[in-house]
Order: sequence, then structure tokens, then C-alpha cells
Amino acid sequence: MSTSGDPTGDMAPGDEAPQGTPGAGENICPACGGSGKLDGAACPTCAGTGVVIEEVGGA
Ligand SMILES: [Zn+2]
Repeated sequence: MSTSGDPTGDMAPGDEAPQGTPGAGENICPACGGSGKLDGAACPTCAGTGVVIEEVGGA
């Protein structure tokens, strides 16, 4: 269960980092191509948002 105030509680399965993480940004979900749907249902990777949070390399 997600705890209120826990940033990881809003993460989709495909997210690599919580929203607001420095150095991380939204990217088109590779599983559904940004449609948010897969096989007629909400994409399990991005939780139907069509985007995932990916950590951007740079370190
Ligand atoms: Zn997706």
C-alpha cells in the first residue's frame, strides 16, 4: 500500500525513479508507444499514462 507523502507511491511499474527526481525525466513508454494502452487495456508498464520516468544518464 502506498503511504501518503511517499513519492514512490505514485510510481508506475515502468518508472525508474519517482517523479521529481533530479536527473530523471518523462519518456514515452516503450511498451505501448505512448498510447497508454496495451491489448485494449491500460498498459501495465506505465499504468496507462503513456509515459514512464527514466533516469537520464550523465554521471
Ligand atoms: Zn505504457
